[in-house]
Amino acid sequence: MAYQKVPLSGCISASSQPPAQGLVPDKISLRIGVDIDGVVSDSYPVWLQELNRHYGKNITVLEDYEMHLVFDVPWDDMNDFFVRNVEQLFTLPKPMKGAKEGIEKLIQLGHEIIYITARSPEEEEVTLRWFRKHQIPYTNVLFSGLKSKVDLVKQWKIELFVEDYLVNAKLIAESGVPVLLLDATYNKGDLAPGITRCKSWLEIVNSIDFQKDKLKK
Ligand SMILES: [Mg+2]
Repeated sequence: MAYQKVPLSGCISASSQPPAQGLVPDKISLRIGVDIDGVVSDSYPVWLQELNRHYGKNITVLEDYEMHLVFDVPWDDMNDFFVRNVEQLFTLPKPMKGAKEGIEKLIQLGHEIIYITARSPEEEEVTLRWFRKHQIPYTNVLFSGLKSKVDLVKQWKIELFVEDYLVNAKLIAESGVPVLLLDATYNKGDLAPGITRCKSWLEIVNSIDFQKDKLKK
């Protein structure tokens, strides 16, 4: 796969990286992997609110993706809370700003969207219901659960991935698939090679669209 040697329009690569890294593949039509929570679904504000209520805390900004560490409770305990309240926790969040329009635009441009989430296969029904409720187009939604997302990325021949979790972003980038990282309070810091930070869905779409415009010339 060839990579363009020009920086992305809009998104920012880590300044310590050479410009050829973390770029969108040089193809008109891409198979794009898209994470759900924190990328398509604005899950964290709702989860923070519900966890504050449950644990009697008042955490306003999530500075660590590992929420059990933020709330200082055992992982199992928080996992139980999610399992017991899955319906509410996966139904209440609104779509991320610009996500629906961004995904529609990418599909319109001829790209293929494959959602890959760490939600479990048991959560498929509530997840697909949420997509329909918000009229966000979907064809394939893959549930990795506790297994590696990278295996699905390889199996489905994903060419570009949109993610918000730094650990997954790094693993996916290391597997050779460039990642656009949607900026969040819990993913600050330096980026590994192959990862490009985008501030918004508009920047994500512009970064991908930009390549197509250039290829036409
Ligand atoms: Mg996520």
